[in-house]
Amino acid sequence: MLQTRQDVLGERFQSQRAAFEAQPFPDIGVRKDHLKRLLTLTERHEADICAAIDADFGGRSVHETRLAELFVVRAGIRHTLSHLKGWMRERRVATTMPFLPGRNRLVPQPLGVVGIVSTWNYPFQLAVAPVTAALAAGNRVLVKPSELTPAFSALLARLAGEHFAPDELSVITGDAELGKAFASMPFDHLLFTGSTAVGRQVAIAAAANLTPVTLELGGKSPAIFDPSCDLDAAAASIAYGKLLNAGQTCIAPDYLLVPKGQAGAVAAKLATAIARLYPTLRDNPDYTAIISDRHYQRLREMINEARDAGAEVAEINPAGEAFGAASRKFLPTLVRNASPNLRLMREEIFGPVLPIVEYAVIDEAIDHVNRADRPLALYWFGRDSGNRQRILRETIAGGVTINDCMLHLVQENQPFGGVGASGMGAYHGEWGFRTFSKQKPVFLQSRLSAGGLLRPPYGKTFERLFS
Ligand code: NAD
Repeated sequence: MLQTRQDVLGERFQSQRAAFEAQPFPDIGVRKDHLKRLLTLTERHEADICAAIDADFGGRSVHETRLAELFVVRAGIRHTLSHLKGWMRERRVATTMPFLPGRNRLVPQPLGVVGIVSTWNYPFQLAVAPVTAALAAGNRVLVKPSELTPAFSALLARLAGEHFAPDELSVITGDAELGKAFASMPFDHLLFTGSTAVGRQVAIAAAANLTPVTLELGGKSPAIFDPSCDLDAAAASIAYGKLLNAGQTCIAPDYLLVPKGQAGAVAAKLATAIARLYPTLRDNPDYTAIISDRHYQRLREMINEARDAGAEVAEINPAGEAFGAASRKFLPTLVRNASPNLRLMREEIFGPVLPIVEYAVIDEAIDHVNRADRPLALYWFGRDSGNRQRILRETIAGGVTINDCMLHLVQENQPFGGVGASGMGAYHGEWGFRTFSKQKPVFLQSRLSAGGLLRPPYGKTFERLFS
């Protein structure tokens, strides 16, 4: 009888569970060996990884794959290797008065079998960065990458098999149906990266097993230009942040809020900045294509709807190139005067299209952000520290970069994660280690304890201690 993907999933899960039970607390040597093997995998197969992702996108900048995927992941593994000993250490915690001289310890413990469901936009980073944290914390790990990157997902499955035993780390490929089966396994923790809609389904499936989830989702991340900002520098930063991976970045600035009367000037500066970064687009290997025809069409429809509704749509085509019907390179597009009911203004864009919205006073900008779902990222550009403080305190976002784009994500000592509709929980660095560990409080009773005083028959000492 033919074995289904679901059967394979079930078998791998069981073998990982058994392996975990046989070795419930891998020592630092075992964990470092796993991390070093993961590092070797990223170093030895860099060219294959870049080529597979390029094939899946139909044109993905090799520099972007190296920078945003391989470099970020390697930096994360090296950071983990150098700090793991400290993270694994049992911490002493002060004892609450009446319980002295007993002692407290906080003991980080592996959880067991961890599941990771990842998506296609940075397929290597979004699979391997959580794997780093889960292995560091001493777990067994099963990964389900995206079906939209079939070449990369098959490569990752093969490489995992070459560098790890299946009961240490295993990659199982498949579509949304397999994703559903995966999310319903009784994992000890599940980390999901993808859309808010699917994240909700994953949380529901995990709830049936009381599996704790970390949800790394998306949303519309605003960028705000303060009247005090340096327009040239801010426009250059937004052009880069928006066009990296052709806008298919979870923390890309989704739309721009600029002071009243400035939208025209900002659009002109953005056009200049874009032309500087990408003097040509069609055959420029640094300008990434849209992942699929469906996503390309989705973006086209958003633009057409905006144009039909009277919005000003400006496609930036610095070299005036013609694009064949088969090309999935999407022109950077600036949109002004788009009404709030358009799809472009309601849904995460996830492509190189930037609506520019004007606000009269800072309260209006804050209100605009707060009326929508809580975003994964927020960007603010300016010098006015009073306004900066108001934005930081009066809006809620997963993470913030001031006077640049996206750099909060690559800070090893900061947690990365969303809030509300953009996600729950966090990882990266020690935050990832903690996500995939049980921080177990342990109280060690002393031989000299006066614990008996807490028990009946309750006397005067009890009254003195607890009044
Ligand atoms: P998606 O949500 O459609 O799919 C993601 C993964 O989930 C895939 O592996 C898919 O096979 C699987 N899947 C699909 N249906 C499932 C189900 N019912 N149960 C379990 N798994 C299922 O991904 P997408 O919408 O194409 O990804 C883009 C989104 O991801 C954007 O919203 C983006 O902002 C977000 N994202 C977030 C982060 C982050 O770190 N927060 C990073 C990258 C992308």
